Amino acid sequence: MSKILIVEDESAIVELERDYLELSGFEVAVASDGLAGLQKALTEDYDLIILDLMLPGVDGFEICRSVREKKNTPIIMVSAKKDDIDKIRGLGLGADDYMTKPFSPSELVARVKAHLARYERLVGSAAEVNKVIEIRGLKIDTTARRVWINGEEKAFTTKEFDLLTFLASHPNHVYTKDELFSEIWDMESIGDIATVTVHIKKIREKIEMDTSNPQYIETIWGVGYRFKV
Ligand code: CA
Repeated sequence: MSKILIVEDESAIVELERDYLELSGFEVAVASDGLAGLQKALTEDYDLIILDLMLPGVDGFEICRSVREKKNTPIIMVSAKKDDIDKIRGLGLGADDYMTKPFSPSELVARVKAHLARYERLVGSAAEVNKVIEIRGLKIDTTARRVWINGEEKAFTTKEFDLLTFLASHPNHVYTKDELFSEIWDMESIGDIATVTVHIKKIREKIEMDTSNPQYIETIWGVGYRFKV
């Protein structure tokens, strides 16, 4: 049974979310302030976190940032203000999805299921083919979702990891930005192919000795990217 953590201070919303998630067969834990949410998210294992932005104590920005430094757990951020969603995206905190209140609980459940399935699929399919991918100095443990470059571990956001792993799992295959976006981001996710460019840049900063002359992810001008072996 998948365990979901709800970090939310409005009890009416908590009840609604909890009812729908439990009816859908999920186990639900709740934290009603930021500090409790942060502690739970860091010390316990959840399959997905639904994170409100405005919270007493520690806000959702800080919780998302702190969790991402340590874990790849999918995070759906919720906020009452559309402006805040834009701000969160701009900060690149590594949330996987965003919803604006009020949202329909069935829509939330649908997104939770989609993110859990995608996460399972990415971890599972890569693990079947190649549990650990090693290419020159780059090592990706697709099961533990950890990455090393020349023996030094690097921290990756969920999407950066998914994108790198996808490309490395299909070496020498040229993918367009559109293909990568639809592969890594759900169709309902906010964003566009520029998101792919931004993530490729961040990945290169972590794995390439010289980002202007990349040895792993090569830009095929006018087409897209490929992972060189
Ligand atoms: Ca709130």
